[in-house]
Formats: sequence, structure tokens, C-alpha cells
Amino acid sequence: MGIIETGLELLYPSNIYCISCGSIIDKTRPYALCDECIEKFHWLGKKTCRKCGKILEESYHRDLCWDCRTYGHDFDRGYTCVQYGLYERGVLLDYKYRGKSYIGRKLGDVLYDRMRLEEEDFDLIAPVPMYGKKQAQRGFNQAAVMASRLAWRMGTPCVPNLLIRRRRTLPMKGLGAFERQQNLEGAFAAAPGNHYKLEDRRILLVDDIYTTGSTMDACSRVLREAGAKEIHVLSFACGANKAPKQ
Ligand SMILES: [Zn+2]
Ligand SMILES: [Zn+2]
Repeated sequence: MGIIETGLELLYPSNIYCISCGSIIDKTRPYALCDECIEKFHWLGKKTCRKCGKILEESYHRDLCWDCRTYGHDFDRGYTCVQYGLYERGVLLDYKYRGKSYIGRKLGDVLYDRMRLEEEDFDLIAPVPMYGKKQAQRGFNQAAVMASRLAWRMGTPCVPNLLIRRRRTLPMKGLGAFERQQNLEGAFAAAPGNHYKLEDRRILLVDDIYTTGSTMDACSRVLREAGAKEIHVLSFACGANKAPKQ
């Protein structure tokens, strides 16, 4: 834990206040969420897309989500923990834009419990990278904090700079499928000088939000070209199962 993080931990002790509503909680509450907030989150139900892991409505009669039926993906399998809604959004905004990096460790614990439901082992865990300047402004990469906590709990090596983001990309929100693809064209690369061998490796990529999967796909293509054998992707929150704007 760095000095700044230690300071924040003292200012906002992560197990005394609920990370969603800020009410006082006891230290035994999972993920530092109070009982009310834990109820408000849209947790994984019985139905998930068998390819990307997106949460599906009980009434949806297929086992692939709209995106996976329409486009397919460059990764092998995906997992997620909650559906992105009002409360999930609030926690992520606090985490990313209000400097509360300790929330990442709580979300890393959520990811860990999600992966305990799967019988999967990985050689490496890596976060989706941020553009260097943007990360310097924020002070941390939200995906990397979550990934390193998950990796520590799984006992798997975490490589925060396995990939780099070569340029600033537009926010994906509001972009259609084609624009998303264009926005990410050539945006990711294997980090130069990385000594980790990717040939025949099983890799778990981590991000905070999964919507159409275009970011995970772009990262997966780079890993695949570098020889990775299998690529699975894990996010904290996923978008709803619906057709994206064209
Ligand atoms: Zn709460
Ligand atoms: Zn899917």
C-alpha cells in the first residue's frame, strides 16, 4: 500500500463506511457494503451468456446474449459480477473519479468470489491498460487495482503492464458498434520489454465495466497474436443485454 493509499485508508477507513451509501457498518460486511446496499445491487442471477458471461433476463430464452449472437468475440470466455445500474454506477464513480482507490480492493474481492464459481486456472492475470497520461492524472488504473487484489487472492501472477494503451481513446459510451471498433483500432499493444512469455499461456483479462466487449476483444487480439493459448475476460459490471446503438 502506498503512502497516498494509506492516507486515504485513514481518512476513509474502508471497512467502517459502506462503499455505496457511506453509512457506518461493522467490519464483517462483505465487500464493505451494508445490508441494504448489497440488496440494491443487481447480482448475477441464474442466467448468463455462455460466451461473454453477461447477465440475462430470466425471460430470455437463449443462452447467448444479443451481442454474442450478432458479432462473436476474440476472447474465449467471459465472466461478470453485477449488472451496471444506479448503485453500481455510484460506487464506480466514487472509485474512479473521487480518488477512493481502496474501493478497488473491495471490488477485487467481488471478482475473486465470482471466479470461485468457476473451475479455471490461469497462468497470468492482466488488467485492461489505461493511456499513460490519463493514468497519471487519476493516480491509478482502476482495472489494475482490482486485478492485483484478485491475483493475490487467487495466488496467480498479476502483470499490470502486460499490455499498453498506445493512444487516448474516446469514451465508448454512445458509440455504435462500428465506431467502437474504429476507436480502438491499433490502440493496444504488448508492452515492449515485457519478459513474460505469452505462448501457450492462459490469461485472465480484467476490467471494471463490460458493455459490448469491444475493448476486451481488442486486447484479446493483441494477446492472441503474441501467442496466448486461451483468453478469458472478467469484469465487475456488465451492461444490459440489448442491441447497441448503430
Ligand atoms: Zn450502504
Ligand atoms: Zn454474450
